[in-house]
Amino acid sequence: MTSDAVSSLLQASSDLLDDYRAGIWWPTSHEQTVVTGLFRAGLFTARHIHGYRQLAGETTLSKGRLIGALQPAEAVLDAHDTTDGTPAHAALDRFQMLIDTLATDEQGHSIRPSRQELHVRGTITLTWDAGLSRIPLECPQCHARTNATLTVTDGSVTYTCSAQHTSPDHRLDAESVEAAIGSMLGFHRVLGDLALPGAPSPTPS
Ligand SMILES: [Zn+2]
Repeated sequence: MTSDAVSSLLQASSDLLDDYRAGIWWPTSHEQTVVTGLFRAGLFTARHIHGYRQLAGETTLSKGRLIGALQPAEAVLDAHDTTDGTPAHAALDRFQMLIDTLATDEQGHSIRPSRQELHVRGTITLTWDAGLSRIPLECPQCHARTNATLTVTDGSVTYTCSAQHTSPDHRLDAESVEAAIGSMLGFHRVLGDLALPGAPSPTPS
């Protein structure tokens, strides 16, 4: 028996894939946040989909088309038998193909995720002068230097310490943080220290 969620997932994933390949639909940067997150996570669970939906922003996602596949995917993963040969497995396969196609930017739309996070267990060091000068980053409130999370949102970077104090850090270059995330093959977590190129004083924008 094929449930509503399974047929919705198969239908929505197929439609989006067709429209993307026909060049008449492509993800928004918020949708790409979910796509990239799922692709890098390398596995789909209902919890992953839910988490990346929240990271990208439910209200913004509700205005786009991708949610039409994300909602049934979450329902299917949550409550269905997804073993090989089941209709749920086939629908998830199509969903996987959609995510892979969008994440690898098959059509070259170059959509960048609206939001990405990087957790660093050690110290984050800002480097400049081709790496000759360096200073450790710290929380302006409690001066913690380890276990921070860098968040890139639409081109700017914030530093969140382990006590959840969040401050913007204009010295950090969003592109170098994104490059660090990109170079880690799917991990949004650095277990040791991280050096990032930046500028010692905020550059006026
Ligand atoms: Zn703090």
